[in-house]
Amino acid sequence: MLRNKLPGTGTTIFTVMSNMAQDHGAINLSQGFPDFEGPQALRDRVVYHLEHGHNQYAPLAGVPELREQIAAKVLDLYACSVDPDSQVTVTPGATEAIYCAITAVVHRGDEVIVFDPAYDTYEPCITLNGGVTRHIPLHYPDFHIDWQEVRDTISDRTRLIVLNTPHNPSGTVWSEQDIQSLREVIAGYDILLLSDEVYEHISFDGKKHLSLLRYPDLAEKTFTIFSFGKTYHATGWRVGYCIAPQPLMTEFLRVHQFINFSTNTPFQYAIADFLRDCSQYHRELGDFYQHKRDLFCELMTPSAFKLKPSAGTYFQLADYGALSNEPDTEFAARLTREYKVAAIPISVFYRKPPEQRVIRFCFAKHEDTLREAAKLLGEVKGV
Ligand code: GLN
Repeated sequence: MLRNKLPGTGTTIFTVMSNMAQDHGAINLSQGFPDFEGPQALRDRVVYHLEHGHNQYAPLAGVPELREQIAAKVLDLYACSVDPDSQVTVTPGATEAIYCAITAVVHRGDEVIVFDPAYDTYEPCITLNGGVTRHIPLHYPDFHIDWQEVRDTISDRTRLIVLNTPHNPSGTVWSEQDIQSLREVIAGYDILLLSDEVYEHISFDGKKHLSLLRYPDLAEKTFTIFSFGKTYHATGWRVGYCIAPQPLMTEFLRVHQFINFSTNTPFQYAIADFLRDCSQYHRELGDFYQHKRDLFCELMTPSAFKLKPSAGTYFQLADYGALSNEPDTEFAARLTREYKVAAIPISVFYRKPPEQRVIRFCFAKHEDTLREAAKLLGEVKGV
């Protein structure tokens, strides 16, 4: 008899909604991925390395050229100096990095704090390691953290706090005040941090991304996790990385070596080449997506959905309370079936489903896709 190791966990919502979009011929604004290609120069380098003998196992932590470029990048962006040999590991996507980081430090009975809506990878990783997930809600409509609640939840059993900025799915971005509050609540505890920063380059209206790497006192207890897929419009490449102080990275590698051993080789060389001369690309990515956010919000203005523009990520929440009182999973399914636009219901990211009626759209799409989707969404009638 098989026993489910993740009771109550079904297929991830990203797969569910993308499949539904396909089945109903709907525009897919659900799972987050661009419908356009990344830089040609980068793709050319992948082909080059495929053709020039870079097709065998990469070293466990990643090819040295890429680790060096990553170290140079975080020095440039976050004034953070890391040793490429002992503090950087390239992973097959940020998802594997999240799994390895949690597995490296969470023992049976340890408590891990996550903020709801929480990306759906976190809790299963905690559960598989025998950890206990403590959920703290972000407060609607601005998704702020009530730091008193964090203070009340922290105990000597708290091993790890999972942070995410820019935040998926709310599109909020941390402020200096959040950093200061975090610093205060963990003072005196032996707590580690996992900072999911896969949307590091995608923040808007002049808001600076506050990587935990900027703060040496916090960075010394943090696994900071990034994604090349989000940055280079190539989510299918599955290349991300983790930065952590050496003692944490030692434990991380202990796990990583038996999960994937290493990350695919030609893509690592290609990204290393591209990183040597692409600081401009990173600096322009926020504007590139801000333009899409603005367009999508503007196109949606005549609709009955209410949108408060995202501060970061390539996601936009929309309140459909004026249209329906259906739970968001039902509303999102009906939207896909009847109006041919797929979105993500955000209640699945909560332990205690929220009262508000909100779904998430991905605007990492061609303008034509966004126009067509907004037209269809403008036709949604109330029930
Ligand atoms: N991060 C993507 C999103 O939030 C989904 C990734 C995945 O499908 N595993 O939409």
